[in-house]
Amino acid sequence: MKIMKFGGTSVGSVDSIQKVKAIVEAEKGPVIVVVSALGGITDQLIRTAAMATQGDITYETQFENMVHRHEEMIQQVIPAGSKKRTLGKKIHALLDELKDIYQGLYLLKDISSNMEDTVVSYGERLSSLIVGALIEEAEVFDARSFMKTERKHGKHVLDTELSEQLIRETFRELPKVSVVPGFIASDKNTSRVTNLGRGGSDYTAAVIAAVLEASILEIWTDVDGFMTADPKVISTAYAIEELSYVEAMELCNFGAKVVYPPTIYPAFHKNIPILIKNTFNPEAQGTVIRERLSDNTKPIKGISSINNTALITVQGLGMVGVIGVNHRIFRALAQNGISVFLVSQA
Ligand code: ADP
Ligand code: ASP
Ligand code: MG
Repeated sequence: MKIMKFGGTSVGSVDSIQKVKAIVEAEKGPVIVVVSALGGITDQLIRTAAMATQGDITYETQFENMVHRHEEMIQQVIPAGSKKRTLGKKIHALLDELKDIYQGLYLLKDISSNMEDTVVSYGERLSSLIVGALIEEAEVFDARSFMKTERKHGKHVLDTELSEQLIRETFRELPKVSVVPGFIASDKNTSRVTNLGRGGSDYTAAVIAAVLEASILEIWTDVDGFMTADPKVISTAYAIEELSYVEAMELCNFGAKVVYPPTIYPAFHKNIPILIKNTFNPEAQGTVIRERLSDNTKPIKGISSINNTALITVQGLGMVGVIGVNHRIFRALAQNGISVFLVSQA
């Protein structure tokens, strides 16, 4: 059994979503397909919420634009018939809810983090319904019922034990194709909708792959694989054939956003290979991430870069040689939910 995750660009246009259909329908055994929101929709959901909260009435245009995008997609890819009508009803019910939420934000001029999480969840909820209706013999599952988070250091963190148990129950019997919205989850105590962080659909896929001990985790995206650098920055970057889990983790952690960093660990833990493939060029070999490499003669695999990072220098003669200073610094950062990813000390 394999898990296939398709990112925003893969489900973002009529042409690309048809490619997703062809790729999935070519599979023989049962597959679980994890999907992101239509490309750009998550950003647009957030932007529209900010506009409404600031009292900017043109949020309505932004909202209508999202409605139009989903309607157009359905219009173009789903053949006329009862399936299309049922899908249309479900999509409009969700969009009507979202419209009410935006109107509420516009009237109240206030937004809570719970409300933000609710707003962004619509992206994957909508896209998974469309993909579920598009692919033959597919059944849509609601990730909020089995991806359970708890609050730690002000962040939503997956409760892996509970989620594992629920995933097992949900997928005890596998249909030919299961479609799962990535990214979204719900709080284990309040059942409120939460999420796994930006780019989190990769993580949804990895967690399911690990629990069900999938033979492979495929991440389908818009580039030929894990590359030597971000091709949007370095035009001569090329796809790497294979990477170890440790190498991939290091590159992802330092900005290679082709894979969301927490994705690597569940796959590594169960020794499940991760294959990065290009939806727009499925013939390309892609990159496999696994434990043992057939050729490990190149010590440097790639270069990554990271933006929006704060560098904090803590200095002073009074702290030189003082035992416990680092302990205090890192404890203060941890208590505030700050992850430190590079440390250097004189
Ligand atoms: P998806 O929507 O499929 O999850 P993302 O936008 O999250 O796709 O990730 C794919 C993008 O990651 C690529 O388009 C590329 O610009 C960027 N990227 C950054 N570093 C790398 C890298 N080392 N290799 C490949 N892609 C990279
Ligand atoms: N749609 C979410 C985002 O844009 C999650 C994902 O694409 O993985 O961050
Ligand atoms: Mg991504």
